[in-house]
Amino acid sequence: MVLFSADRRLAALDASATKKAEAAFANIERITEYNQQKVLSAFIECGVSEMHLGVTTGYGYDDVGRDTLDKVVAKAFGAQDALIRHSFASGTHTLSVALFGVLRPGDTVLSLTGRPYDTITGVFGIDSKTDGSLRDFGINYEQVCLTADGEPDIEEIKSRLKTKFYKMAYIQRSRGYSSRKSLSIEKIKQLCDAVKEISPDTVIMVDNCYGEFVEKREPTEVGADLMAGSLIKNPGGGIAPCGGYIAGKSKYIEMCAHRMTCAGVGREVGATVGHNRELYMGFFASPHTTGEALKTAVYASALFSLLGYKTSPETDEARSDIIEIIYLENKDALIDFCRGLQSGSPVDAAAVPTPAPMPGYDDEVIMAAGAFTGGASIELSADAPLREPYCVYMQGGLNFYSAKVGVLLAADRLIKRNAEGDKGGIL
Ligand SMILES: *Cc1c(COP(=O)(O)O)cnc(C)c1O
Repeated sequence: MVLFSADRRLAALDASATKKAEAAFANIERITEYNQQKVLSAFIECGVSEMHLGVTTGYGYDDVGRDTLDKVVAKAFGAQDALIRHSFASGTHTLSVALFGVLRPGDTVLSLTGRPYDTITGVFGIDSKTDGSLRDFGINYEQVCLTADGEPDIEEIKSRLKTKFYKMAYIQRSRGYSSRKSLSIEKIKQLCDAVKEISPDTVIMVDNCYGEFVEKREPTEVGADLMAGSLIKNPGGGIAPCGGYIAGKSKYIEMCAHRMTCAGVGREVGATVGHNRELYMGFFASPHTTGEALKTAVYASALFSLLGYKTSPETDEARSDIIEIIYLENKDALIDFCRGLQSGSPVDAAAVPTPAPMPGYDDEVIMAAGAFTGGASIELSADAPLREPYCVYMQGGLNFYSAKVGVLLAADRLIKRNAEGDKGGIL
């Protein structure tokens, strides 16, 4: 039997990292408890019962489980309405349905947080008029770049909003795979206030991927009109097998529903073919699972900073998403990290991550994931392009006690490599 705590060196490292993470853990516990009560209250107030967990097929008319879960999600997110479906193919698809749902030819979107997440650039048609992109349908895109220190440029945003009417202001909460910081809810509130003050009819939409339940409030509670995210990240709780959600103002959710299925039919159809139970369970588990992922991120930050590496966020820094960046500084360390993390995964522990070319990337990319759900990044995972400064983006962890083993094994590989060098000196 492998019992990782039997390794004295790993145990010492674990003890130091745990101590360093103590205050941040206590804060995560408080947020998790608050959000768990928020979700439980939504279940109780919406009268969730056994009949909602059943199966519909065919058109899925009168699927009370589906319709009630929409209400639960809306309530938990402090929104007027919501759509949560297993049939959203990915986060990008969900965001795309929301964008096409409310935008019309001739409209212009203003991104307040610079260039959006990679896959969203194709939806807007930012670089080229991709077939089926918003640009292909005559919807324009403009952006206000982030300031040099990675913050939204509020002054520039205000002056741009005064030049003409923008139908939508688009905000990305998470850092995604960039070095900027995630946007706190407080910052999102400031942006919403600024937009509403100058242009009250502009629809504020937030890409909330990786952000759900990281803070006590969601963007829809501080002025966002619409937000969307993926169920193989936080709000699926590691249980939903696929899907996404959109939450926000009723009139916009209604418009999204007509894009989600078809005009005139909207949310009246859509069989859930047995997925209701998983989506309910996943959403119920989400505050806790997100807390476990956050603890894993904080722990990794503590541990790798003890080993002398730069991490972002730092151990005690405020967080608004579940991503942790560790600057590993060289290619071999990056590969070692991913291999170590993989070796501590519950699924595919024997797999050996290897850098490979990826469509859409200039550099080779390496990925570690030993997940029960394909591509689920609420499960412990890490990925990185092979380029300076060789930083790894790590996220997820369904279960802190398991995920921390992955992190420890990643550290162990680096320590062994650097045994003669200057890293890992504390041991
Ligand atoms: C994950 C993510 C998305 C959606 O990505 P999918 O891979 O399509 O689910 C969009 N925006 C951000 C910031 C994300 O992290």
